[in-house]
Amino acid sequence: MATPLSPDRLVAALKAEGVKVVEQSGWQTHNRNHKGPWGPVNGIVIHHTAGSDSRSLVWVGTSSLPGPLCHTYMAKSGVATMVANGRANHAGTFAQNAHDAVVAESSTHPRPYEAEPVDGNQHYYGIEIENLGNGTDPYPEVQYEAAVRWATAICRAHGWSEDSVIGHKEGTRRKIDPSFDMNTFRKDVAERLAHPADWNGTPEEDDLPTPNEVAKAVLTYDGLIAIPGASPTNPTYTLSSTLTEILKRLDKANVSIAALSAVNAELVRTVAALAAGVGSIDPAAIVTELREAIESIDVRLDVAGN
Ligand SMILES: [Zn+2]
Repeated sequence: MATPLSPDRLVAALKAEGVKVVEQSGWQTHNRNHKGPWGPVNGIVIHHTAGSDSRSLVWVGTSSLPGPLCHTYMAKSGVATMVANGRANHAGTFAQNAHDAVVAESSTHPRPYEAEPVDGNQHYYGIEIENLGNGTDPYPEVQYEAAVRWATAICRAHGWSEDSVIGHKEGTRRKIDPSFDMNTFRKDVAERLAHPADWNGTPEEDDLPTPNEVAKAVLTYDGLIAIPGASPTNPTYTLSSTLTEILKRLDKANVSIAALSAVNAELVRTVAALAAGVGSIDPAAIVTELREAIESIDVRLDVAGN
């Protein structure tokens, strides 16, 4: 629960988050405050317009649903137009369980009850994202990213988590918008919240797996692995067969190294004995030289299986 942001504070927060903001003339006093309360605010509602070129529509509204129909309109270009400051006709009524989940910042957002006792327009900021909402009209990256930044900026300004953000379809059974997955959207908001407002990283760049995640992925891998040097008739192994094969080859390598060391030691002894029988040669010097020569040998073992 929070006091709504002032127009200046809201715009400053959006710009700090990297949102391209256009302030439509008069937006600071454009609202439905004469029809009901605005605030305290509890969260953010994401919508799609279900149309195209909706910028003037969301300002004016229709005869049955007068504008403003959102606080911000997000064009396909990623430009955010400020439409309203105050109560707007975007959410309508909400189910109590949906609203309670937002207030509690619950990580699960239950299917809304049919009864809708909550005045959504009082308690929620709303954004209309331009999209036909037919499941095939794409949300350009620049538009989706800007919407994530818009929601993040408001969460950051209020000290809210990503679970203060819901889709219209999560507040009421009457709606299906937005036509993208809200859990993914919240995850993207959470990622931005974990960074400073001026963060320009992309999820891809920041999504390098941790060593634990790699280990987990390897241990649960149930596909086949191509093994260098494996039999042509059986070139791929399961993970457990692969580990067995690697251990087998290591054993073989260890046996080879032990045998090589024994041969070297025998060679040293033999040469030392020979040198001892020849009076003019210093046996100790020869042994030292041999040892150094052996140590510098780059041992190459063919450990490929067969
Ligand atoms: Zn909606």
